[in-house]
Amino acid sequence: MTDGMVIVGAGECGGRAAFALRDQGFDGPVTLIGEEAHHPYERPPLSKDVLSSDELPEPKWVSLPERFAERGIACITGTSVRAIDRQRKTVELANGATVPYARLLLATGAQPRRLPLAPASERVAYLRSYTDALAIRAHLKPGNSLAVIGGGFIGLELAASARKRGADVTVIEAQPRILMRGVPEEIAEVIAARHRAEGVTLSCGRGLKSIAEREGKVFIELTDGETLQADLAVIGIGAQPVTALAEAAGLALDNGIAVDATLATSDPDIFAAGDCCSFPLAIYGGRRVRLECWRNAGDQGALAAANMLGKGEAISSVPWFWSDQYELTLQVAGLADGAATSVRRDVAGGAFILFHLAQDGRLLAASGIGQGNVVARDIRLAEMLIAKAARPAAAQLAQPDVKLKALLAA
Ligand SMILES: Cc1cc2nc3c(=O)[nH]c(=O)nc-3n(C[C@H](O)[C@H](O)[C@H](O)COP(=O)(O)OP(=O)(O)OC[C@H]3O[C@@H](n4cnc5c(N)ncnc54)[C@H](O)[C@@H]3O)c2cc1C
Repeated sequence: MTDGMVIVGAGECGGRAAFALRDQGFDGPVTLIGEEAHHPYERPPLSKDVLSSDELPEPKWVSLPERFAERGIACITGTSVRAIDRQRKTVELANGATVPYARLLLATGAQPRRLPLAPASERVAYLRSYTDALAIRAHLKPGNSLAVIGGGFIGLELAASARKRGADVTVIEAQPRILMRGVPEEIAEVIAARHRAEGVTLSCGRGLKSIAEREGKVFIELTDGETLQADLAVIGIGAQPVTALAEAAGLALDNGIAVDATLATSDPDIFAAGDCCSFPLAIYGGRRVRLECWRNAGDQGALAAANMLGKGEAISSVPWFWSDQYELTLQVAGLADGAATSVRRDVAGGAFILFHLAQDGRLLAASGIGQGNVVARDIRLAEMLIAKAARPAAAQLAQPDVKLKALLAA
C-alpha cells in the first residue's frame, strides 16, 4: 500500500479535511482515526437542540456516515492514537496497530478545562461530546435545578436550553459580568437581561470554595460563605487544546500545537488544524492566535488538506463565531482586542452592531446581537471590510442609512 494521508481526530476539522482531500483530487489512501464512538459530528447543536428539543436529535453529521466508505475514506472510530513515530512515519493506535503516513494531520481539538476542586461525580458534568450532552439532558426537567459554573458561551447556551426544558438555573461566574472574554459589555447586558427575563439567576463576581455531592444533590460552597444546592452542576470554564500526542512527538507548542501560516507544524510532514493549533494571522500583523469556533475548524480542515497535497496556501480567513440563546443570535467577526473606539449601528427590531476600530481607524472587529439572523448580512459585510483592512469613517458606520456594501466598494 502506498503511504497515504492520515488524520488524527474525527471531529469537525478532521472530517472536513478527509473529504477535502478527495474533493481536491487525492486518490491514495485516506485514514481518519477518532477516539469517539461516532463518525464526525458538529458540536454547536450539543448545547442547543440536543439539550432543548423535545425529541432527542441524533448527532448532526459532518457528512453522513455511509459517505466515508463511498468516498474511500477509512474512518476508524472508537480508537485513539497513542503515539507518532516521526522517523518511521507511522502512528500507533491504542490497539497496537500502526498506520503509515506520507502526510499526517493532527485535528485533536480541545477538551473542557477541568475544575480541580470538583469531585468526580455523575452530578458534576462537562459538555464537549454527544455522550456528555445526553447525560446532561437526562437532568433537564421541571423541578430539577442546574448550577452552571462559568458564564461563557457554552454555560449560557446550556442555561437557555435548560430553561426551555423547565429546569431552574443558576449561573455562577467569577468575573464581574458574563462573557468577559470576547464580547463587549453592551452586548453582554442584552444577553444577561434576556436570561433574567427567563428566570435564570446570574450570580457574577463570586468565587468557588468547594463542590461536594451528598444524598443525590450537589452542594456548591462560594467564597462569600453561601452554599447553593443543585441536582446537577455543569462546569463551563473554557477549553484546553489537546496536545499530548504532538508534545510526546517533540513538535513545537505555543498555546496549542504551533503551526505556520500554511498549518504545517515544526515537522513539514505533519500539519495541525482546528481547535488544537495556534497560528499566525496575517490580517492582525501575524499575531499568533488559537480559535475555538466551528467555521475555523471546517475552513482549516480544507486548508490543511490542500497543503498536505503541497499547495502551500496561507490562512486568510477572518475569525467568526456565533452563539444562539433563546431567540437571540450573537455574531462576532474579527478580533476586537486592541480597539481604541467602538461605534454603534442600530439595526431593525432592537438589534445592533458594534464596530471596533483601531487608533488609526482600521476596522478590527464587529459584534452584533439580534433576533434570528437579523445581523448576519451586516456582519458578513463587516468581515469583508476587516479582510480588506478598510478604514471606514466612524460616522458612516454609525449611520444605518449608509449601506456597508457601499463602504466596501469605496
Ligand atoms: C457544546 C459546544 C457548543 C459549541 N457551539 C459553538 C457555536 O455556537 N459557534 C461556534 O462557532 N463554535 C461552537 N463550538 C465550537 C466548535 O464546535 C469547535 O470549534 C469545533 O468542534 C472544533 O473542531 P475540531 O475538529 O478542531 O475539534 P473537536 O470537535 O474537538 O474534534 C477533535 C476530535 O479529536 C478526537 N481526538 C483527540 N485526541 C485524539 C487521539 N489521540 N486519537 C484519536 N482521536 C482523538 C477527539 O475525541 C474529538 O473527537 C461549540 C463547541 C461545543 C463543545
